[in-house]
Amino acid sequence: MDLKVNLVEERPVDRKEKLVYLDPQPLVVRPPEVRVCDFEEAVIGFTEDAVVVEAERCLQCPDPQGCVSSCPVHNNIPEILWMVAHGDYLGAAWKYRETSNLPEICGRVCPAPCMDGDVVGRRKAPINLEKIEQFVMDYAIDYYGHIPTPEPAPPTGFSVGIVGSGPAGLSAAEQLALKGHKVVVYERMPAAGGLLRYGIPNFKLDKRRVVDRKIHQLEELGIEFVYNITVGKDITVDELMERHDALFIGVGTWVEAPLKVPGVDLDGVYKTLDFLMRANVPLEDLPPDKRERPTVGKRVAIIGGGDSATDCARTAVRLGAEEVTIVYRRSAAEMPGSWHERERALEEGVKIEYLTAPVRFIGDENGHVKAMECVRMRLGEPDASGRRRPIPIEDSNFIMEVDNVVLAIGFWPDPLIGETTPDIKTHKWGLIVVDPETGQTSREGVFAGGDAVRGPDLVVDAMADGRKAAEHIHRYLMSKRVSMQIPAAASAFS
Ligand SMILES: Cc1cc2nc3c(=O)[nH]c(=O)nc-3n(C[C@H](O)[C@H](O)[C@H](O)COP(=O)(O)OP(=O)(O)OC[C@H]3O[C@@H](n4cnc5c(N)ncnc54)[C@H](O)[C@@H]3O)c2cc1C
Repeated sequence: MDLKVNLVEERPVDRKEKLVYLDPQPLVVRPPEVRVCDFEEAVIGFTEDAVVVEAERCLQCPDPQGCVSSCPVHNNIPEILWMVAHGDYLGAAWKYRETSNLPEICGRVCPAPCMDGDVVGRRKAPINLEKIEQFVMDYAIDYYGHIPTPEPAPPTGFSVGIVGSGPAGLSAAEQLALKGHKVVVYERMPAAGGLLRYGIPNFKLDKRRVVDRKIHQLEELGIEFVYNITVGKDITVDELMERHDALFIGVGTWVEAPLKVPGVDLDGVYKTLDFLMRANVPLEDLPPDKRERPTVGKRVAIIGGGDSATDCARTAVRLGAEEVTIVYRRSAAEMPGSWHERERALEEGVKIEYLTAPVRFIGDENGHVKAMECVRMRLGEPDASGRRRPIPIEDSNFIMEVDNVVLAIGFWPDPLIGETTPDIKTHKWGLIVVDPETGQTSREGVFAGGDAVRGPDLVVDAMADGRKAAEHIHRYLMSKRVSMQIPAAASAFS
């Protein structure tokens, strides 16, 4: 019996039997030599046969279910997998939508912390929960022609402003619109999505097919988007509070951490977001001063680790670089970010120099970078981040010839809103302080979440924050209605 395909009549039902017989199923991924020629999505996903078997691997554990508790939005994964294993993909899509605003996006980019809680992972590769989500949502979108979305509640008469249209802002906006509130999103860039559009590359998340569809559906839900407006500069939080009954701030962390190394300002040294957005985003979605693709020479070095570094490296490959090297000062064990995206980068020819750091960039007579001096590192005791501290090894310096460098060493919060709104408390490094239970800032009626509160994190965590804050904004508005004694029907027409 071929267990990989013949599962409809002869499914092994016993938990142990499943662990022994059902193997992790293969994904359809475009071959590296093909996918590096364009910026289209690299992973196509599961076939229907494979997704059924992959879902069938679920042991349907009794409570507490590790996968559910490790998912920041607590997707009901066992129930979803049961539905998928029985071919009920539409039921599964609606189940995702009960707890998630962006399942079609998480199915593409989530490092899936839920998989860490999957007990199958203790014996074999964990169930590929991320790609099951992608299959289910793509299936539902093909079937319905749109993302399954419940009907909104009747209008409440309240209005909420959302600052920033990343996953935190979009999730808060959708939840509030579904509750019947009028929602206006204020966004500094010419298009919505935050890092979903301007950070994560197209080969991981298609802008036109996936991100635009979501924004379009939110517009159809009645959400208004105001672009090219910077809150804290073009309009203040005080002015927004005169227009709206409550505010959610989800402005992310877009200030690139500085690298204090001589020569960092040479031509040919790019910063992460400038490089990624100019390479990956359709030109018409970019601010006018960014509408030019970056160029790269033969040898490109990416400084840093994590998802930003692998995204920059894979982008450099697609721009035509022949030798792309990630230079990371710690070892593979400390490197943050998704390991399977790192594997895909290696498949595409990217090299990684671990335990290495630049000490200076060297320019040619035209002021363009031509080499960098690096030093080898060893690992010492853990630092404040809990990771072992890199320590330079004496006399280990060497020269690496490069035509371009991309700095991918991390992000800091933008202090703008904190500085222009003194009654919104921030940490001294600029993150917004909130009540962790509600997302409420130090100012009444103003809530915040996502990277602007946590520091650089994940799409799913930003979404979880947006949902939580939306719930508490709704409660706050309902309590206002009680104190104003506005009956729902009357307020709907006010
Ligand atoms: C290169 C890169 C790759 C990544 N890859 C992944 C991945 O594969 N998987 C994953 O889960 N996470 C990934 N992340 C992290 C993830 O994208 C973020 O954690 C997430 O987008 C944070 O969401 P957010 O809504 O808090 O902020 P953002 O997505 O940063 O959105 C903030 C929005 O606010 C707007 N804004 C800022 N200031 C103002 C202002 N003053 N007025 C008006 N608007 C303003 C910005 O223009 C932006 O649109 C990646 C990050 C980067 C940089």
